Amino acid sequence: MKPNIHPEYKEIKVHCACGNEFMAGSTNEEIRVEVCSQCHPFYTGQAKSIEKGGRIERFNNKFKR
Ligand SMILES: [Zn+2]
Repeated sequence: MKPNIHPEYKEIKVHCACGNEFMAGSTNEEIRVEVCSQCHPFYTGQAKSIEKGGRIERFNNKFKR
Protein backbone atom coordinates (compact mmCIF):
# COMPACT_ATOMS: atom_id res chain seq x y z
CA MET A 1 0.00 0.00 0.00
CA LYS A 2 1.25 3.49 -0.92
CA PRO A 3 1.23 5.97 1.98
CA ASN A 4 -0.06 9.02 0.05
CA ILE A 5 -2.99 7.35 -1.66
CA HIS A 6 -5.52 9.73 -0.09
CA PRO A 7 -5.26 13.42 -1.11
CA GLU A 8 -5.36 15.91 1.74
CA TYR A 9 -8.88 17.19 2.44
CA LYS A 10 -8.86 20.74 3.75
CA GLU A 11 -10.82 23.97 4.12
CA ILE A 12 -10.31 26.19 1.08
CA LYS A 13 -11.74 29.45 -0.21
CA VAL A 14 -14.29 29.37 -3.01
CA HIS A 15 -14.29 32.47 -5.20
CA CYS A 16 -17.51 33.33 -7.00
CA ALA A 17 -17.87 35.46 -10.13
CA CYS A 18 -20.09 37.86 -8.13
CA GLY A 19 -17.21 38.59 -5.75
CA ASN A 20 -18.50 36.49 -2.88
CA GLU A 21 -16.11 34.18 -1.06
CA PHE A 22 -16.92 31.29 1.20
CA MET A 23 -15.18 28.31 2.74
CA ALA A 24 -15.63 24.76 1.58
CA GLY A 25 -13.96 21.42 1.99
CA SER A 26 -11.87 20.37 -0.99
CA THR A 27 -8.67 18.71 -2.05
CA ASN A 28 -7.94 21.61 -4.44
CA GLU A 29 -6.08 24.78 -3.44
CA GLU A 30 -9.03 26.99 -4.37
CA ILE A 31 -12.22 26.90 -6.42
CA ARG A 32 -13.78 29.47 -8.73
CA VAL A 33 -17.49 29.23 -9.45
CA GLU A 34 -19.93 31.09 -11.72
CA VAL A 35 -22.76 31.24 -9.18
CA CYS A 36 -23.06 30.78 -5.44
CA SER A 37 -25.85 30.87 -2.86
CA GLN A 38 -25.51 34.68 -2.76
CA CYS A 39 -26.09 35.39 -6.45
CA HIS A 40 -27.83 32.32 -7.87
CA PRO A 41 -31.34 33.13 -9.18
CA PHE A 42 -32.78 30.21 -7.24
CA TYR A 43 -31.65 31.80 -3.97
CA THR A 44 -32.11 35.48 -4.83
CA GLY A 45 -35.54 34.75 -6.30
CA GLN A 46 -35.79 37.93 -8.40
CA ALA A 47 -35.18 36.91 -12.02
CA LYS A 48 -36.65 33.42 -11.77
CA SER A 49 -39.96 34.42 -10.14
CA ILE A 50 -40.53 37.16 -12.74
CA GLU A 51 -39.86 34.70 -15.53
CA LYS A 52 -42.15 32.11 -13.96
CA GLY A 53 -44.94 34.64 -13.45
CA GLY A 54 -44.85 35.57 -17.12
CA ARG A 55 -45.08 31.96 -18.12
CA ILE A 56 -48.06 31.25 -15.87
CA GLU A 57 -49.83 34.37 -17.18
CA ARG A 58 -49.33 33.22 -20.75
CA PHE A 59 -50.54 29.73 -19.78
CA ASN A 60 -53.72 31.11 -18.20
CA ASN A 61 -54.44 33.39 -21.18
CA LYS A 62 -54.18 30.43 -23.50
CA PHE A 63 -56.99 28.62 -21.70
CA LYS A 64 -59.12 31.73 -21.00
CA ARG A 65 -59.44 32.62 -24.67
ZN1 LIG B 1 -21.94 34.47 -6.30
